[in-house]
Amino acid sequence: MTTYLDSYVCGAWHRGTGEPNSLYNATTEAVMAEVNSDGLDYGAALEYARTVGGPALRAMSFAERGEMLKRLSGAIHEHRDELLDLSIANAGTTRKDAKFDIDGGTGTLAAYAYFGKDAGARGFLADGDGVQLGRTARFWGRHVMVPLHGAAVHINAFNFPAWNMLEKAACALLAGVPVIEKPGRATALVAWRIAQIIVESGILPEGAFQFFSGRVGDLLDRMGPQDSLAFTGSAYTGLKLRSNPNLLKHSVRVNIEADSLNAAVLGPGEDEGSETRRLFLRNVVLDMQQKTGQKCTAVRRILVPEADLEDVRAELVAMLEGIKTGDPADSATTMGPLASAAQLQDVTAGIAKLAESGRIVTGSAERFLDTGYFVSPTLIETDSADAAIYHEEEVFGPVATLMPYDGTPEAAGAIVARGQGCLVSSAYSNDPAWAERVALELAPWNGRLWIGSDKMAEQSLPPGMVLPAMIHGGPGRAGGGEELGGLRGCGFYMQRCAIQGFKGTLEASFGPPREAAATR
Ligand code: NAP
Repeated sequence: MTTYLDSYVCGAWHRGTGEPNSLYNATTEAVMAEVNSDGLDYGAALEYARTVGGPALRAMSFAERGEMLKRLSGAIHEHRDELLDLSIANAGTTRKDAKFDIDGGTGTLAAYAYFGKDAGARGFLADGDGVQLGRTARFWGRHVMVPLHGAAVHINAFNFPAWNMLEKAACALLAGVPVIEKPGRATALVAWRIAQIIVESGILPEGAFQFFSGRVGDLLDRMGPQDSLAFTGSAYTGLKLRSNPNLLKHSVRVNIEADSLNAAVLGPGEDEGSETRRLFLRNVVLDMQQKTGQKCTAVRRILVPEADLEDVRAELVAMLEGIKTGDPADSATTMGPLASAAQLQDVTAGIAKLAESGRIVTGSAERFLDTGYFVSPTLIETDSADAAIYHEEEVFGPVATLMPYDGTPEAAGAIVARGQGCLVSSAYSNDPAWAERVALELAPWNGRLWIGSDKMAEQSLPPGMVLPAMIHGGPGRAGGGEELGGLRGCGFYMQRCAIQGFKGTLEASFGPPREAAATR
């Protein structure tokens, strides 16, 4: 019997009234589930979040909400094996890639539990120090962040069904704002099972969590000034959603995490014996292979000094040809299929398009197997970084383009800038002066910058890994958004209010908590 993915709205599970869409096993192409959420009452969901979930969450302190997230993380983790199996089947991930998503999600919840504990026994956050505004300190001001009284609507991408939902939920719930989640449809099975676990656990207060498994109808048209929308997906959809007249009319907060042509830049003088060069090669290959390249942070542009190009190409090809593509359930497999038939079509067409202005060094624009959404890891090479296509076309699969540059930070900066804004770029060098110059060139175009060197190689986590303590997002094409970054991630769901008045009253209510004040 096919599983039907119902939606959890206003405290109960509901089935959509429209024609269901099928979800497939990415390896066998067998139908796994059906989904539809048409015809549900989207306005009622918003109102339920605002009037039931919001007050319940706001009655709790940051520490209590953090404790709630900790329990939630544990409850989901108890189902880890079942979720890994679902991810392998529905999303086509290897077990290792499935862990990246599932453990990434529960790990982010646990990290936000810790941030909550640290934020303490109040339901709001003080922002910075108080300021004397009058002739004496009697007239005083302070910035305070308080939870918005609306719903946090989260529209998520297909590539991280667990992490994408849980990282957004962690920030909103800790801030004291109820969530309405919508997963990417192709891999919604994993997100839906997590939704079931969340509801069955009873850990969240009534109204704090709702879940639409399919489309969200006219939900955006019903949002108001205290609601917020956080979206992850393509720049195309992001533009469409942020242009919604109702959202514009009410100045609804919109955070967009969109696509990105991330770059990896090898500095000059890192020869074959350099640990930094090996780190560069490992990270580039990991980004192409991990989650079959369906990672918003994956490297798409590989910049190598002209003098090193030939050797680096040979090293990359050898490593990429060592990737074992196949059934993700087989433990010998190191790269599974793409997540959906639509992805297969987009990625093969995208490789062919990139190859028109360069050449395929290894891999192919053809599907890899007759059944399942498989492609080969594919490295394209271009003789110069001039062609616009390499800076405009994000091929969301195991695909990247190798391009030469003259080794200067300024040239690297100019090439990276042509991507019009990235989530993360990485630069590799043991020369501190070069690293500083490249950082200043690249930083304006990136939400995060990762600088590799011998000194940190052994302890580093790869640039493609988003960490809850560091911000995630990027300027321009990457959406202009910002998520995570510790308590910064809660800020999107809170109103920063400048409160002015008598110092004694303000400091007692909104200044440092008494214990902290006593130790100052
Ligand atoms: P997408 O097609 O833009 O879809 C993203 C989400 O938006 C899905 O849940 C989709 O629902 C929903 N959606 C589409 N049209 C909508 C509409 N008119 N109203 C409301 N919701 C709508 O992107 P995708 O193919 O899932 O994801 C791949 C893209 O996401 C890539 O370009 C990748 O770079 C980007 N991405 C970015 C990040 C980041 O953090 N910056 C992370 C992951 C992925 P359905 O699935 O039901 O159509």
